Amino acid sequence: MKHAVRTSLDALQLAHAHAARWLEGLDDRPVNADASLTTLRARLGGELPARPSDARDVVNELVRATDRGHLGCASGRFFAWVIGGALPSALAADWLVSTWDQNAALHATAPASAVVEEIAGAWLAELLDLPRDASFAFTTGCQLAHFTALAAARHAMLAKAGWDVRERGLFGAPAVRVITGAQRHGSIDRALAFLGFGRAQTLTLPVDDDGRMIAAALEEALAKDATPAIVVLGAADLNVAAFDDFATLIPLAKAAGAWVHVDGAFGLFARASRAHRAPLTGVERGDSWATDAHKWLNVPFDTGVAFVRDRAAHRAAMTIAASYIATSDDARDPIDWTPEWSRRARGFAIWAALRELGREGVEALVDRTCAHARAIVERAAELPNVEALHRPTLNQGLLRFLDPRPGAGEGVHDARTERVIAAVNASGEAFFSPTSWRGRRAMRVSVVNWRTDERDVERAVAAIARALEDAR
Ligand SMILES: *Cc1c(COP(=O)(O)O)cnc(C)c1O
Repeated sequence: MKHAVRTSLDALQLAHAHAARWLEGLDDRPVNADASLTTLRARLGGELPARPSDARDVVNELVRATDRGHLGCASGRFFAWVIGGALPSALAADWLVSTWDQNAALHATAPASAVVEEIAGAWLAELLDLPRDASFAFTTGCQLAHFTALAAARHAMLAKAGWDVRERGLFGAPAVRVITGAQRHGSIDRALAFLGFGRAQTLTLPVDDDGRMIAAALEEALAKDATPAIVVLGAADLNVAAFDDFATLIPLAKAAGAWVHVDGAFGLFARASRAHRAPLTGVERGDSWATDAHKWLNVPFDTGVAFVRDRAAHRAAMTIAASYIATSDDARDPIDWTPEWSRRARGFAIWAALRELGREGVEALVDRTCAHARAIVERAAELPNVEALHRPTLNQGLLRFLDPRPGAGEGVHDARTERVIAAVNASGEAFFSPTSWRGRRAMRVSVVNWRTDERDVERAVAAIARALEDAR
C-alpha cells in the first residue's frame, strides 16, 4: 500500500475510534462544555509548528486538546437554541463527502454531487409541498439561504422597475423597500444589509400577542406607499414558533405587487406533518423560502436551502460567466444558483437523510420532537414556582422560574430564571438557553434532535427539579 494511503487510513481509523467513543458516551457524558477559554487556548495554542507531525499524533492531540470543549449538541438532552443532531446515514455521508472531497461548484468538477443535489432539491420541494418547479440552492445555512433568495427578490423587483442591477448596480437604482415583522430573526437583517438594504429601507410592523404580523398593518403599509416592496414573513420564530398568517398575508402582499419571502428555518418542516401543517396553509403562494437541513432534518452542519419561484431571477442574481468554467447545457451546475464558488458537496447528507427517513420518517420525527417539547414544558410547569410562558404548539416552549419570596418583582424572577438555567446547565444533565419574551427572561425549550427520547425527557425534567433546589 502506498504511504499516502496508509497514513490516511491510519488517521481515519483513529478518527473512527474517537467518534465511536464520543457517540457511545452521549448518554453519560455531561452535556455542557466546561473547558474554559484559557484552558482551550493554552491546550491548542503555542507557536506555529515548525516541523511536521505524524497525522495520528495530530488526531489524538486534537481530541485531547478539545476535551470538554464541545457541547453535547448531538445528545438527546440538548434543548438550547434550535440545533439538530445528525442522523446516522447523514453523518456517515458527511464523512464520505470529506473523503471524496469534490468541488461541488459544477457538474464538471463533481458529477455525482450535481445530480444528488438535483434529486435532493426536488425531494425537499415535494416534502415541504412548495412549487415543484421552484429553483433551489443548497447553502451553508438559512442565513445564506436568505441572502440567496433576497438577492433574487432584489433582482426581480428592480427588473420590474426597468433596472438591471447586474449591469447598473445599486447606486442610483429605483427605490425598493422591505416590510417585515418585529419578531423576525436577525439573519434577515444581515442578509438585507449584505444586499444594500439599510434600516431606512426597512419597515418593521408590530406583531400581535401571538407574535404574528397584523394583516391590517400590512394592508395599510402597502396602501400608503407605492414603492415596490419585498415582504418578509416568518414560518416559526425561535421563542414560540409563531407562524404568520400566510393565507391572509400573502394574497394581500401579492395584490400590491410585492415579493414575499418566508423564513422557515425549522418551521417549514412542519409541512411534513399532517398534525402540524395547518399553520402553514398558503405558504406555497410565496415567492421564495429559506430553510435549514441542519436543524429539523438532522443533517450535520452546515446546510441550508433556498427555494425561489422565479427561476430566472434566481439564476440571474447568482450566475457568473467566466471563460474557464466548463458549464453544462444539460446538467445542473450549482454555481448558477449559489453565492459560493468552490463549495462542499452538501447534497449527499440531505439525500441520505431523506432516504433514511422517507416521508413517514420525517413526519414521525416532527411529531415526536413536538410531543417531547410539550412533555418537558408541561411536566416542568407542575413543579413549584415554575410558570409556562408558552406551552409548545410546535416544538418550542418557554419556562420561567419565579422567586417565591413575597413581593418579588419581575426583575427578581428574571434573576431567578437565569440562576435556574445556569444550575441545570452546570449539572451536565440537560442544556437550555435563556431568552427574553415580552420583556421577561425565560428558558427556551427547543426539541429538534432525532435522538431525544422519553428517557431524555425524564432526565431533563428531573434536572430542572434539582436545579430549583440548588439555585435557591
Ligand atoms: C436558525 C434560524 C435562522 C438562521 O439559520 P442559520 O442556519 O443559523 O443560518 C434564521 N431564522 C430562524 C427562524 C432560525 O431559527
